[in-house]
Amino acid sequence: MAQEKILVVEDELDISRLVTACLERESYQVQVAASGQQAQHQLESFLPDLLILDLGLPDTDGLSLCREVRRNSSLPILMVSARGDDIDRIIGLEVGADDYLGKPFNPKELVARVRALLRRSALSPTQNGGDTIQNGTLRIQTQSHRAFLGGEEVHLTPIEFSLLRQFAQHHAQVLSRQDLLNRVWGPDFFGDERTVDAHIRNLRSKLRQVEGRFDRIQAVWGVGYRFD
Ligand code: CA
Repeated sequence: MAQEKILVVEDELDISRLVTACLERESYQVQVAASGQQAQHQLESFLPDLLILDLGLPDTDGLSLCREVRRNSSLPILMVSARGDDIDRIIGLEVGADDYLGKPFNPKELVARVRALLRRSALSPTQNGGDTIQNGTLRIQTQSHRAFLGGEEVHLTPIEFSLLRQFAQHHAQVLSRQDLLNRVWGPDFFGDERTVDAHIRNLRSKLRQVEGRFDRIQAVWGVGYRFD
């Protein structure tokens, strides 16, 4: 399994060192941001699978940052706060954090929460009301046939849209070319499997234009494709 990436937004060096050590011991890949501005930058360059967010930051507060991230992503967020009172917990969860931990915390507790959040987010792409499929920064509106990456719309042909939808619904699974032909073109289609490759090439290039170099659709040699 690929190493999951965790961004720790924390301005206190002692704490960020401790958290990093605990998470790295569990084989997570960790980066630390000591300010809100740094966090914004690393969210785009590091593409974390989970965010650990301190409430009190030098240039902004964790709540605004949390709200901002939530505007276009379902990235799991674990909020931590030194004040550790119930008000912080309630507000944190209200602005979209998935879980909350008061300082000082037991590092084992932190690791357990992180593991639970990652497991929950890997289990299924969130499906809201049957119309929206949210998968990390990817959002698909099935009725209007629109796709968004990090809030930016990706303009797709109907075939590309159907392919992306299949990938989002079968996150991290390998789909063979034949699977994709059946699901997207239908069982009666007698085309070449290379048709699939051609459309996936176009889809990839459109996704890359929005996301930079990051390639979500991986070819699995001799089998098919996997969406990460
Ligand atoms: Ca702080």
